[in-house]
Amino acid sequence: MLIRRRIFPKEMESTKVASFQSLTENVGRFDLTNKSVLIPEMNRIGTHLIAATFRGFGINAKVMDTCKGLDLGNEYTSGKECYPCQITTGDILYFLKTEKEKLGNSFNAEDYVYFMPEADGPCRFGMYNKYQRIVLDSFPEINRVKIGSLTTKDGYSLTGIIEKEQVRDLRKTAYFSVVVADILDRLLWRIRPYEKEPGMTDEFIEKSMHFMENSFEANGGNQKFDKILDKLNEIIGEGKVIIDPNIPPKPLIGIVGEIYLRTHVHANQDVIRILEKYGAEVVNASIAEWVNYTTYDRLRDAKIGFYLNLKQLRLGPMMKYLKQILSFKGDLFYQEIKQKQVYKKVRSLIDLAEDHKVAHLENILEKKDIFCFDVGTEACLSIPGIVEYARDGYNGVVNVYPFTCIPSTITSAIVRPLMNELKIPYLDTPYDSSIQPGRETAIRTFMYQAHQHFKQHGRKKH
Ligand code: SF4
Repeated sequence: MLIRRRIFPKEMESTKVASFQSLTENVGRFDLTNKSVLIPEMNRIGTHLIAATFRGFGINAKVMDTCKGLDLGNEYTSGKECYPCQITTGDILYFLKTEKEKLGNSFNAEDYVYFMPEADGPCRFGMYNKYQRIVLDSFPEINRVKIGSLTTKDGYSLTGIIEKEQVRDLRKTAYFSVVVADILDRLLWRIRPYEKEPGMTDEFIEKSMHFMENSFEANGGNQKFDKILDKLNEIIGEGKVIIDPNIPPKPLIGIVGEIYLRTHVHANQDVIRILEKYGAEVVNASIAEWVNYTTYDRLRDAKIGFYLNLKQLRLGPMMKYLKQILSFKGDLFYQEIKQKQVYKKVRSLIDLAEDHKVAHLENILEKKDIFCFDVGTEACLSIPGIVEYARDGYNGVVNVYPFTCIPSTITSAIVRPLMNELKIPYLDTPYDSSIQPGRETAIRTFMYQAHQHFKQHGRKKH
């Protein structure tokens, strides 16, 4: 592979990559002790809370600036990759370039682990870290930066990245941070459309995110979840004051789509803010739902494996799958209970939207016979998620995704006729790094339809 342009000082010119051995040696789970763990930003709050959680366990994790290196991302990709791959490639190259300039000779590539998870399944997410490995390998001065990867294949197991005794605690706290981040995001979308003065909510949420980071750093390592929850409740209490009670309810819009695009505000050109500009209150699908889905899917696979081997009476594999079933069932039970507990506490203070159980979403697909979990990907969540938005009385649904994204295109193809039938406004918003001049007009037209729907049918409370 030939890298085209020099972005680093002369001694860091790119070279041809002659061997792909690095894909197995330098991508995977590595011990993170004494390393700087570089996390690309996705949903801003969630990424910062995950980094704070890692720090609470003694891992030096930092969130990299995002989109500042988009030119590099575009340059070192061919244009055929998914947009999140281009953004994150730019983020890591930009970070290392800036770090190298800052530290000079004391820069040591071995001090860093770049964090890029992957997903099993029919789309391209599993290839990001392989592709980015090839790009990093083409620069002799940074090719020793390892890529730390968690995978959906084992339900994002953390085994091997820290001491064995801490793995379970880190996993629990990381999941808890995902739920708390979802709630802060939902608080933002709940209060911003009704704020007393423009800008109050953004300022408040930014401040709150930093409070929660400190709380996770101080309490996450010891699992003092009550202390973190007390802080969250305090934040919600303050946030409620921002709401102007004289502003009447607005049309409720649900968002589904590809996880990175729908949560990364630069990548989606701040679509939620534009919807709000035209009079919407928005609820975006959560991150915890995806984490629950990966655990649910592994449990589902283990059950299938068990029954296939039971038919052939193969005792060894049956025991292996049984062990997996018990383990994933335990994880899923914990996640769903924890999520429910936190939402219950929070919803006694403010009416935020809740998540559905993944089993319920699969049930919807089975009953309607429109898609199947066997296919996998986020379409498993987006399609029934849209059906649930429609049943819950939302006034419109937006599907946010990277241009050419496979699962989201499937979602669109299946859901469009359904939404026509249900007469609920629906909009596809594919994004890449270009600005589409007609985008805002499309959103405005969609919101006009949502207002009409709202006038005719009203909206359900959360
Ligand atoms: S979900 Fe879509 S954007 Fe993400 S890797 Fe798969 S195809 Fe690409």
